[in-house]
Parts: sequence; structure tokens; C-alpha cells
Amino acid sequence: MPIPIHDPHQAPGGTLKRLPLRKAAVLFIVAVCLCLFGLLYLQLEQSRRQDLAVAKMASSNLTRAMAQQAEDTFLAADLVLTSLVDWIEDDGYGAGQKARLQNTFARRVQQLDQLHGMFLFDRDGQWVITSFPDLPRGNGVADREYFKFHQQNASTLAHIGPAIHSRENGEWIIPISKRINDRAGNFQGVLMAGIKMSYFDRFFESFSLDEKGIMFLGLTDGTLLARRPFDEGLIGSSLAQGRIYQNLLPEASAGTAMINSVVDGVVRLYGYRQLASYPLVVAAATSRDTILKGWYERAFQSSVIIALVILGVGLFGWVFIHQVRDGERIEKNLRKAQRALEQIATHDSLTGLANRRLFERSLEIEFARGARQVSPVSLVMLDIDFFKRYNDAYGHVAGDQCLTQVAQVLKACCQRKSDLAVRYGGEEFAVLLPDTDINGALAIAGQIRRSVIDKHIIHSGSPTGYLTVSLGCYSFIPSGNDSPELFIQRADAALYQAKNAGRNRAAVFSLEESMAELLRSDR
Ligand code: GH3
Ligand code: MG
Ligand code: MG
Repeated sequence: MPIPIHDPHQAPGGTLKRLPLRKAAVLFIVAVCLCLFGLLYLQLEQSRRQDLAVAKMASSNLTRAMAQQAEDTFLAADLVLTSLVDWIEDDGYGAGQKARLQNTFARRVQQLDQLHGMFLFDRDGQWVITSFPDLPRGNGVADREYFKFHQQNASTLAHIGPAIHSRENGEWIIPISKRINDRAGNFQGVLMAGIKMSYFDRFFESFSLDEKGIMFLGLTDGTLLARRPFDEGLIGSSLAQGRIYQNLLPEASAGTAMINSVVDGVVRLYGYRQLASYPLVVAAATSRDTILKGWYERAFQSSVIIALVILGVGLFGWVFIHQVRDGERIEKNLRKAQRALEQIATHDSLTGLANRRLFERSLEIEFARGARQVSPVSLVMLDIDFFKRYNDAYGHVAGDQCLTQVAQVLKACCQRKSDLAVRYGGEEFAVLLPDTDINGALAIAGQIRRSVIDKHIIHSGSPTGYLTVSLGCYSFIPSGNDSPELFIQRADAALYQAKNAGRNRAAVFSLEESMAELLRSDR
């Protein structure tokens, strides 16, 4: 395992901040789920709009067909009425004409499937001629809406009135009628053709419509003429307050609209159309639920599939996030173990100071840096005075505690981040001081010496009575190719000089003294 280098100049927080993988995973999964939701929504919305567009088209085609049928039905009756009115106005309906007219009425009714019967009324509303063989008996039709209309309106155009019960046989009919004038334009009577309501009912029934579907034929004033499903109670009632008559027809004579029924609460798509040639309106409605039945099924299927996919993604994400978390925990433990190993490999277990291995690597780095920056590197070597005696007097365990206390002093005095306190050997310590000249080194050495004294560690074997240390200082400006051994030797020589000079002091390396010492030891 490579031993980390003590490099106090390394940029703080130099390694990039780790990407928070777990957060990223959660965000990714949430984003995927949101995208799936979004896609589902867009797809369903689009297909819903498509289904509604198709239904609108079908609805508008249906109302066009209804309008055409209604127009054809009334036009045929109108043409018959017109020709007969011309005849009656020219020739009258005297005794000579009656038999021919009755014959013609009966033939026309036979020819036109939609006709229930034809009726000619005099100016008092009494039956004159009908398509039936016998004339009804009764009070006449002076009370009927269509009769009053012609009586009061000079218009010779056909009039379509509200549906009525035939006084002939009780059948529901829709009357289409024309006014008969004399040559001077005075009211002479009414010719009416009754259109069978069942004719429309049959036509309405020929279309396939859901059970909530509605078709109707009404007058432009809102009066209901025919309806599917048939409801006798509604015939003749007014639709004028409904949305079609109130809001839609004033805007456009044909169209489609979604209408919420106030009667049964069902929402229906209505197609409506006002006829150009007669005052008639047709409309057909299909319930929205029927239109969107297929869409509801597709929406349900798609939602189930998307829900399953989201569930899968969620499960996968859950497992993934757990694995990432486990991985992160394992990595954290590994890093912790690695840091502990690094600490063990590079630090002294008793004092917690750097060991010689870290010291040597740091020396290399600081020499190189000192050479680069032309700045001095200093070393202070420290040895406890009379430590053998201390051990002898107080025991090895007390000696170890004493070493720990001295180490604490060193740590406290190494204030700069680049300073490195080292346990060099048994009771010898070193302090590496980068970018520090000899004066700085001497100052720190003095500070250490005083701090040890201030601890007042009682030492009976020392002449002072308490524990003291001796220190040797050396400083130089590295040139690029320097020997760490010589550097240590010189600080060590200074320490030796401090010991020789009486201990409890700091000495600076002096070459002369070193030489003299060398000579003394030779002798
Ligand atoms: P001087 O003032 O000349 O330094 O005298 P001294 O007795 O301190 O002499 P020296 O430095 O040679 O003493 C070394 C002693 O330090 C030897 C040993 O008893 C003691 N020693 C070395 N390592 C340890 C250690 O780890 N723990 C303890 N308790 N004592 C140690
Ligand atoms: Mg020693
Ligand atoms: Mg000693």
C-alpha cells in the first residue's frame, strides 16, 4: 500500500465533490415516472379528441340525413297541397267537383306513404271533403292552431303546425296546410294534409343509436313534433328554453355541441340542423359515455400497463437505491479502514506523532519545495534529559506517559500546518519546519523547552528536580541535491552540543564545534 505523503501544501478540498448517486437515482426514477405519466396523458387526450371528432362527424351526417328526409317528406305533401289549392281556387268545391276532389285526395294519400289523410275545411272550419269515404261529424276544426293561423294570415305558403290527434281516427299527425282564397283574396277555407308521426318514428328507428340516444324533429319555435324514444307526454311541449334553441341556433343553423341534460344528468353530443325551406329543426344526440366507451377501455388498459411499468421502475429503483446505499456504506467503511491503516503506517501509536517513515517522505518533499522556492528548511532535534533515570525511578509506564506529555507539547508548538512533529526514536523527537530560518527554529525550540518545564513533570534524577529537554537546531536552504542524512546529522550534532553544554537548552549547529567534537572523540 502506498504510504500517503505528508503534503501540507495540498489544496484544501482538492478532490472533486462526489456526485450524490442516490439523489440522482431518485431524481431519474421520478423523471421517468413523470415522463410515462405525461406520455400516457398526451396519448389518451389525443385519442379522446379523435374519438370525439369522429362522433361529431357522424352526428353531423346523421342530422343532415334527418333534415333531408324531413324536407322531402314535407315538400312532397306541400306540392300536392299546392296543386290542389290551385284547382280548388279555380274551380271551387261545389257539388260538381266534390266527387273528383275526394277521389284525388284518396289517391294522393295512397301514393304518399307519409300521408295520413287530406282534409278540406270551409271558412268556418267544417269538413267539406276528406280523403276518407265518410265525413266526420262534430264541431269542426275552427279551434285548431293551423286553422286560426290561415284565418288570420294572408300568406299562401304552407304552414306546419304542432302535432295533433287526428279527429278522424286518433292517430298522431303533423299538419301541413294551406289557405284557400277566393278571387278577391278573401279567406275561403283551409286544405290540410296530415303527416303521420309514425312515419318519422319509423325513420328514426332505422338508425342505430345507444339506449340513451335521442332524435327529434321540432318547429323553429321549439314545439316538439316527433321524438325517439317516443314519449307521448313530450309531444307538443316546448324546447325553446333548451341550449340548442337558446344559444346554438341563433349562432349557427347547424352544428354539434356537448350538452349536459338537466332532465336526466346525461352528457350527450348533440348534432342539430335547421331546415332552409321549412321552419323545422332536427337534432340527434348520443351519450358521451357511448362515444367514449372504446376510449374508456383503451384508457384503462394503457393505465394498467403504465402502472405496471411504473411499479417495475419503482421496484427496480428501490433495489438500485438500496444497493447504492449499501455500496456507499461499504465504501465509507473501506475509506475509514484505509484512513486507519494510513494512520497506523505513518504515525507512532504511543504519541500519535508522525513516524520516521512519514518524516523521511516529508523531508524529500520539503527539500524539493525549498529548492524550488529558495526558502530555508529547519529541523529541531529533541532528546529528554536523564530519561534513563526517569524510567529507573518511576518505571517504564510512567516513562511512556511522560513521552506522551512531551509529544503534546510538540503538537501544541507546531502551529503552522506545514510543521511536522515526529517521534524519531525512543525518547528522541524531531520537528520539521519548512519555510523557517534558524531564528524561527531557535524560537520554536525555546518555546518547546519552556513548555516542557511549564508541565512541571517531577524528575528526581534531574538536577533541576523536574523534567527538561535538550534541543538542537539546524537550518539550510536546499539546493536540489541535498542529503537528508546530513541534515539530520547536523541537527543531531547541535543536540549533542546542547547536551554537552549542560542540557535543558537549545543549541544551533556550529561547524567549528562539530569539528572540535570530532577531534575530541578521536583522541
Ligand atoms: P541524556 O540526558 O544524556 O539523554 O540521558 P538519558 O538517560 O536520557 O540517555 P539516553 O538518551 O541515552 O536514554 C535513553 C533511554 O530512554 C533508554 C530507555 O530507558 C529510554 N527509552 C527509550 N525508549 C523508550 C520508550 O519507548 N519508553 C520508555 N519508557 N523509555 C524509553
Ligand atoms: Mg536519547
Ligand atoms: Mg535522553
